[in-house]
Amino acid sequence: MSETIELFSVGGLSSYCYCHSIRTLFDCGEGFTVNKRDRIFAIERIMLSHSHNDHSNGLCTLISTRAKSAGDKHKPLSVYLARTRPNVLLVQYIKERLGDLPFDLKFYFLEGNGEITLENNKKILFREVRHGEGMSYHFLVMEERKRLSPQYVGKSQQEITLARKTYNVYENYSICLLAYGLDTDYVEDVCRIPELKNAKIYIADTTFLSNSDRRVGEERKHLTIGEVSVIKERMNIKKVIAAHFSGRYTEDECRKKCKEYGLICAFPTFESEIY
Ligand SMILES: [Zn+2]
Ligand SMILES: [Zn+2]
Repeated sequence: MSETIELFSVGGLSSYCYCHSIRTLFDCGEGFTVNKRDRIFAIERIMLSHSHNDHSNGLCTLISTRAKSAGDKHKPLSVYLARTRPNVLLVQYIKERLGDLPFDLKFYFLEGNGEITLENNKKILFREVRHGEGMSYHFLVMEERKRLSPQYVGKSQQEITLARKTYNVYENYSICLLAYGLDTDYVEDVCRIPELKNAKIYIADTTFLSNSDRRVGEERKHLTIGEVSVIKERMNIKKVIAAHFSGRYTEDECRKKCKEYGLICAFPTFESEIY
């Protein structure tokens, strides 16, 4: 099955990423509803990585627009977000502000690490990484697959058919199709997520093009392009989409650096089939 994503990300301004095949929106920064109005009824679930404004400011607009616009007004919507004080206040604000809605809106507060089961042998893992004073979630879209057990690899079709009569010749394994990783500045935290190993696509916090561009106090918030490339290498990730660039950089600067490091540049958007 193929997957197309629609990603927008500028550090400190707004980030969101809509994944078509799983009808999931990762983060909901400002501008989503304005730019992607024709997607608002397609979304089944929204997952917020953390409570910073640039990742959650568009939520109230999306919900209120969905309630008012022409479309399937009764389609339920689920929102997953960490149980932090800003998020609890955000949910309270949305409930009070919007009142009764024509659709079933459910909020799920996430605590620690866990997973959400989807259809078609897929699930979304949520894994905590440190981000400044708090935490942010990395979201990993996983797919369960079957393959021939190692002892049968290289055997003839006849031998396998024979073995299948008595034994289970297949083993289950899971693959990370897509990981969404905004925001963090801890290479170690990211590399401690075992499921990220061999991921096909990783959308990475690439706020800084050089270490010297970090202001004092920013060193524990966001990654540099060099650190992202270390993660790519260590976790054997096939493709990295660099996102969340600081607004101080020009498109040319970002594209040039991404080319140098072999990363895909999302400045500020990346909209394409990814597998
Ligand atoms: Zn951010
Ligand atoms: Zn943040």
